[in-house]
Order: sequence, then structure tokens, then C-alpha cells
Amino acid sequence: MSVGLTLEHVTKTFSQGAKSINAVDDLSLEIGPGEFFTFVGASGCGKTTTLRMIAGLESVSSGRILFDKEDVTGIPTQGRDIGMVFQDIALFPYMSIRENIGYSLKVARVPKKEIDERVERTAELLSISDKLAMKPVQLSGGQQQRVAIGRAIVREPKVLLLDEPLSALDARLRTEMRSEILRLHRRINSTIIYVTHDQVEAMTMSSRIAVMEGGKAVQVDQPRSVFRYPARESVATFIGTPAMNVWDASLEGPTDAPRLSWSGVSVPISREDAQALSGLTTVRLGARPQALKLVPADEALLEATLSLKEPLGLEDECHLQVADGLELRLVGRVPDSVAEGSLVHVNIDPSDFCVFHPETGEVLR
Ligand code: ATP
Repeated sequence: MSVGLTLEHVTKTFSQGAKSINAVDDLSLEIGPGEFFTFVGASGCGKTTTLRMIAGLESVSSGRILFDKEDVTGIPTQGRDIGMVFQDIALFPYMSIRENIGYSLKVARVPKKEIDERVERTAELLSISDKLAMKPVQLSGGQQQRVAIGRAIVREPKVLLLDEPLSALDARLRTEMRSEILRLHRRINSTIIYVTHDQVEAMTMSSRIAVMEGGKAVQVDQPRSVFRYPARESVATFIGTPAMNVWDASLEGPTDAPRLSWSGVSVPISREDAQALSGLTTVRLGARPQALKLVPADEALLEATLSLKEPLGLEDECHLQVADGLELRLVGRVPDSVAEGSLVHVNIDPSDFCVFHPETGEVLR
């Protein structure tokens, strides 16, 4: 059994010296039962505070938190039926892995036979059955993290809260554990709420993500939609690797033939698009590095000098110097014959452009 969660106008105010800050600012959202929901954002955006309020480890300054229809705002952690895993693994060093995983059941006075059965089932789920007699120090970082997850899920909580659980692991283990956690989510029924600053983790694991900035969720959607239709420039540049190219362009031409221009390049835009931009003389134009294509000169939108070529394996990441000091990134298959210093011709499909408001950063089309 898993639960859905509702956050209603949740705010957390901390006093920092003479000032007070809203670490979480009027946050309202719903998380469906069984979802893998991720709060992602840069350091200090309020993700951990949000998770701690859901856990009952931090009080709510105003607003309500509901598990299904039940208001849990005033209910302490023990009454919320949650499991938690944090960045620092903190297993009990003198206990065996079996005792570590079974600890919460022992505290809850579950009969020994049942503890054994549930610990063994959990260990099997996490592929650590052969480690049960060992002590934490005998395990690798990834195995210890599995034990920490095992300890959190052995009670079969309705909600599993994970705060940066992979950040202490090296890159290879992190990727491995990402798949492990996903597999686990497919097999257990719990709603998972995950916190990370790593957009790749957020994108690859979640059914939906909330991109946080300054205590607010600036976009809540499926990862693919956030990538394809970012709500604002800051989201566009935060999600996706390498970051989306964004530069200034001016709106020119007569109203019946409007154009966007920059660095000697000029592209026509539709009248509907121009309407969305009415009242503006400049905009921020965005295109993902993967949307830039090398093409023959007669099909090109712009020409550039290839200043740096970084092989990624099958593809290359290229730094392109356009006129007026504009540098763009391109990711794609670039022939060996196109070396650093070459003049290249680039096209961008008009449907691949994002247009953002120059001051608010909000997406205009
Ligand atoms: P990180 O990834 O660095 O943990 P985060 O997005 O999880 O960041 P929070 O830890 O939720 O952010 O912090 C949000 C804001 O609240 C920050 O400005 C932080 O300094 C502040 N803050 C968090 N806890 C407290 C506290 N106990 N007292 C005062 N300010 C706090």
C-alpha cells in the first residue's frame, strides 16, 4: 500500500540573525500514490527542508501536509509510516548487517522469526543476502548504501524518502545504484520522494520532478516535458547536459514579416509567435546543443569556427565561435576531417528554438 501526498501552501521560515528567510515558500503540489517524485535544484533552494517537513523532522511554519486525505502536519515522524535514507549512511558499526536492517523491527518488538524472514526478504531484494553476517566496515560504499535502503524499507513504509542517497558514491557506483533504486521502486509499492541537486539522477529515475528555486517549485512535470518545454530560462539551463545555449536576439522587421536577429543572423518568425513577443525589442533565444546540426554551406543558418572538440565517445561536444563573441555548444557526430580551427556551417530547426522573456526569464514560446 502506498499513499499520495498533498502539500498545501507549505512555508518554512527560518530566522538567520536579524533576518528571516522563507526556505520553502508557499509550496503546493500533489504526489500520486506509487510515484517516484523528485525535488531537484541548486544548493539552498529548499529541497531538504521540504523533505524534512514531509518526514516530520522539521515543523511547518504555515500550510498543511496530507498523506492521502489525512492531515499529518502536526503528527511526529514515528506516526507517519515513512522510511528515510540520507546522504551520510550512518549504519550502526558494531552491529551485523542483519541487525542493522532488522533494528527498527526489533525496537517495534516484532517476533524474532518474523524479523529474520523480513530481513532476508529485504536483503534478497537488494542483492546483499550473502552479506548479512558481516559488519558495515567490511562492505563497499555501494553495499553500505543498500543496507541503509534495506533498513528504511524493511518496515514496508508507505512513503520512502531519499535525500541525496548517492552523492557519497563514486560515479560508476552512482550509475549502478540508480538502476538498483529504480528496480526496487518497480518491485515495492511505496511512493518514493527523492531529493537531489543532480539533474541526471532526477531525469533518469523520476516519474515527475519539481524544479526548485528560492523555496518555490518553478516547474513540476515529467522529466521529458521539463527538458522539451522548460518553463523558464533558469530551468532550461539547469536541466540537460551540456547546458542549453541561450543568447540575446532582437526582434526586427515589419509586423507582417517579423524576424529575430543576432550576430549577423536573421530568422523569420510566424506572426503568432511575434504576437507572443509583442511589446519586446529583445528576447533570450535558446537551443539545446543537440539541436545544432552541421550542414552544407547552402543549408546553413550560421557559420562558426570550431574552437574546441571534446570527444564523448560516439559523439563530440564542440565549442563554436560565432560572430560578436557568441559561443555556442553543439553535440553530435562530427567527422574526423572537421578539426579544431575549421569553419563550420550550422543549422537549427526553427521548432527547436525556445524564446524567453529578457527580464522575467519566462518562456514565451
Ligand atoms: P542543499 O542541497 O545544499 O542541502 P537544499 O536545496 O536542500 O540545499 P535547504 O537545506 O532546504 O536547501 O535550505 C534552504 C535554505 O534554508 C538555505 O538558505 C539554508 O541556509 C536555510 N536553512 C536550512 N536549514 C536552516 C536552519 N536550521 N536554520 C536556518 N536556516 C536554514
